[in-house]
Amino acid sequence: MAKDSLEKDTSEKTGNITSRQPVIGGNDLKEERNRDAALRPKYLSEVIGQKAVTKRLGIAVKACKKRKEPLGHILFDGPPGLGKTTFATVLPNELGTSIQLTSGPALSKPADLLPFLTNVEENSILFIDEIHRLPRVVEEFIYPAMEDFRIDIVLGEGLSARTISMNLKPFTLIGATTRSGMLSSPMRDRFKMHEHLDFYTIDELSQMIKINAKKLQTPISDDAARELACRSRGTPRIANSRLWWVRNYADSEANSSIDLKIAQEALQMAEVSEDGLDKQDRRYLEVLIQVFGGGPTGVEAIAATMNLPADTLSDEIELYLLREQFIIRSPRGRVATERGFSLFNKKPPKNGGLTNSGLFGSE
Ligand code: ADP
Repeated sequence: MAKDSLEKDTSEKTGNITSRQPVIGGNDLKEERNRDAALRPKYLSEVIGQKAVTKRLGIAVKACKKRKEPLGHILFDGPPGLGKTTFATVLPNELGTSIQLTSGPALSKPADLLPFLTNVEENSILFIDEIHRLPRVVEEFIYPAMEDFRIDIVLGEGLSARTISMNLKPFTLIGATTRSGMLSSPMRDRFKMHEHLDFYTIDELSQMIKINAKKLQTPISDDAARELACRSRGTPRIANSRLWWVRNYADSEANSSIDLKIAQEALQMAEVSEDGLDKQDRRYLEVLIQVFGGGPTGVEAIAATMNLPADTLSDEIELYLLREQFIIRSPRGRVATERGFSLFNKKPPKNGGLTNSGLFGSE
């Protein structure tokens, strides 16, 4: 898949946020934007799964409404497409307040953040996606804003430079990250709540697909919704993407309603296997098994062979392959499991990575 087609343009948020997301079933960027906007839940009661997170946020919302105070800064972390932006955009609706959206890569210097901070309304929300990509200088600029709702602006240069402090309206910063480990600890410590989002169950994704099919006015059978859910890598964004594609297929090739046969035909055409793996997942496993003999091998070597950034592999491909035990991480690198090898009708080599007990463990 071309690098460009992996870029999810979320420009409706700020005009310049980009994050790397897989595009499935031939969807283009505009289509993905429209789909996300049309299908995103608006209130906590519409959010599916992530029960504990939803419950905690509900309590925080209730308490802050009672006290008429800002919510308190929240950090969401988890793989792409699991609902970090969704939670962030649901909260202002619950609170009856506004939200401004931007992202780490869009804020290269403190001056880029200034308009967002000076525009905050009382108790409103500022959402920073990919917050782990904030430059250190911007991070340091934001600390007094998070702690005391104040910013320090340096005017002039050299000996004539002076610092003026400016008070801000109380607000809530919501950060989202796929890599919480890359956040500096001073930044992490300034968030009052830290919520981790995990992959969704098949039942949760089935429920989501049925609700979203209804929103799209497309009839779908229970078994077809389940089939889509099983092939969505535990990820709502991918479930939506599969549903969008299957709906196009049903409109074009059938009577606009989705049954199991239509779902299977459409997914086969999009090259989504029964395991829910897509082309990139299979290519990863192919490289690990066919090129590197099943490992152990470093993620950089696999990334170089696939011509993709190592970050894309760690953030988007590996987490699901690890969860489904197609691969394991060992101190010496990635190793394909028996399940991974079985996709290629192969068995792990006798003295391969997995038979060496020393390889097991986490990096
Ligand atoms: P992230 O910000 O983590 O990359 P998003 O919040 O953009 O993910 O989620 C992608 C899409 O998946 C959303 O537009 C929404 O339609 C759907 N989605 C995500 N989480 C949920 C959820 N818990 N319930 C219902 N739909 C969800």
